Amino acid sequence: MTDTSAASAPITQDVLTIPRKLPEGPVNLVGLTRDKLRDALAEIGVPEKQLKMRVNQLWAWIYERGVRSFDDMTNLAKTFRAELAGQFAIELPEVVSKQVSADGTRKYLVKIAGGHEVETVYIPESDRGTLCISSQVGCTLTCSFCHTGTQKLVRNLTPGEIIGQVMLVRDDLGEWPEPGKPKNEARLLSNIVLMGMGEPLYNFENVRDAMKIAMDPEGISLSRRRITLSTSGVVPEIARCAEEIGCQLAVSFHATTDEVRDRLVPINKKWNIETLLDALRAYPKASNSERITFEYVMLKDVNDSDEDARRLVKLISGIPAKINLIPFNEWPGAPYERSDWERIERFADIVYKAGYSSPIRTPRGEDIMAACGQLKSATERARRERVSL
Ligand code: SAH
Ligand code: SF4
Repeated sequence: MTDTSAASAPITQDVLTIPRKLPEGPVNLVGLTRDKLRDALAEIGVPEKQLKMRVNQLWAWIYERGVRSFDDMTNLAKTFRAELAGQFAIELPEVVSKQVSADGTRKYLVKIAGGHEVETVYIPESDRGTLCISSQVGCTLTCSFCHTGTQKLVRNLTPGEIIGQVMLVRDDLGEWPEPGKPKNEARLLSNIVLMGMGEPLYNFENVRDAMKIAMDPEGISLSRRRITLSTSGVVPEIARCAEEIGCQLAVSFHATTDEVRDRLVPINKKWNIETLLDALRAYPKASNSERITFEYVMLKDVNDSDEDARRLVKLISGIPAKINLIPFNEWPGAPYERSDWERIERFADIVYKAGYSSPIRTPRGEDIMAACGQLKSATERARRERVSL
C-alpha cells in the first residue's frame, strides 16, 4: 500500500492502486448517470423504445421524490417493479452518527462500502443551507495545516457515495417533496461545496457524474451556480471543471510565495504559484459574474502580514476573483495558530481596498470539529489517539 504519511508522502493520484473490495450483490442505481442507467435497464431486457421513458420514471422517483423502494413506484406495473427489485438496489451510504453543534451545524459520520468512513457537514445560514461533502476517504495530499491530510487511509468515493451524501442529508432534513404537493421552493439544502475530505480533482470523473446528478433539472435540481468545487491546485484538471461540470471554482491559495506555499500546500512543488495562476487566467468560465474564489487560511506569523496581503492582490490581478479569508481551525496537535482577529481584519482591509470582496469566513461547528480542514474519520482519530497515549 502506498505510504501517505505526512512526512514521506509522495504527491500522487494513485489512490486506485489501493485494493478495494467491492460489495457483492445487485447493482445500486444511485449514482448511475442517465446513460449508465439506460444501459443497466437495457441489460435486463427493457425494450429499446421504452428505455427513455423508464429512465425518466426511475430518475424522478429516485432523485425528485427520494423514494427508496421499487414498490413505491406506483406508475410502474407490479411485475416490472418486482423485476427491478430482483436486479437492482437503491442504496445510500449509512449514517453512523450525527452531531449537532450549538450553532446548528450538523456533522454526519457516514460509512461506505468496505467499512470506511467519511464526514459530511450541513451548515444552515439565514439565506441558504450549505452541504460540505467529501470526495475521498482521507486525502493523498498532505497540506500541513489540514487534519484530513494526516489521515492515511485513502480511496476515491464512487458517484453513488458522493451524491448519496446529498440524499441522506435531504432525508435527515425531511426535504423530499411529497407526491402531489408542489416542490419545496425555499430549500434547506440549497448549496453544495466540495470542501470536505479529499481532493475532488483527483477523483474527477466520479465527482463530475455525481454533480451532474445533483444539477439534473428533473431531480435534485441544484443550479450549477450553487455548487462550488475547491481544489488545492491540480492544474491539469482545472479547465475540465468548467468544461465538464460547469460549477463554481475555489482554489486553496493560502500563500504568496512559493517558499511558503511549498510548505503549506505541497502540491505547489509540482504546480507552483505561477503555473496555477496561468491556469486560472485561462479558466473558461471566469468572468465578473462567475468569479474564482481564492481561499486563504489565516495562520499566525506564517502568511498573514500586510506584505502578504499586498503580494496577494498583485498576484491575482486580472483574474475575476473574490478572496475568502478562513481563520485557521485548530485541531489537536496542529502545528499552527489562528491569526489574531485584528490581523485578519487588517489583511481583509488591504484586499478590500484593492478592489476585491474579502469576506472572513465565520468558523462554524467548531465545538463538534466540523469546521473546514478538521474532518477526519472517527476510526482514524481513535487509532491516532491510541497511538499517542
Ligand atoms: N482538497 C480540497 C478541498 C477540501 S479542503 C482543497 O484543498 O481545496 C476545503 C478548504 O479548507 C481548503 O481551502 C483547505 O485549504 C481549507 N482548510 C484545510 N484545513 C483547514 C484548517 N485547519 N483551517 C481552515 N481551513 C482549512
Ligand atoms: Fe487534501 Fe485539501 Fe486537506 Fe490539502 S487541504 S490535505 S488537498 S483535503
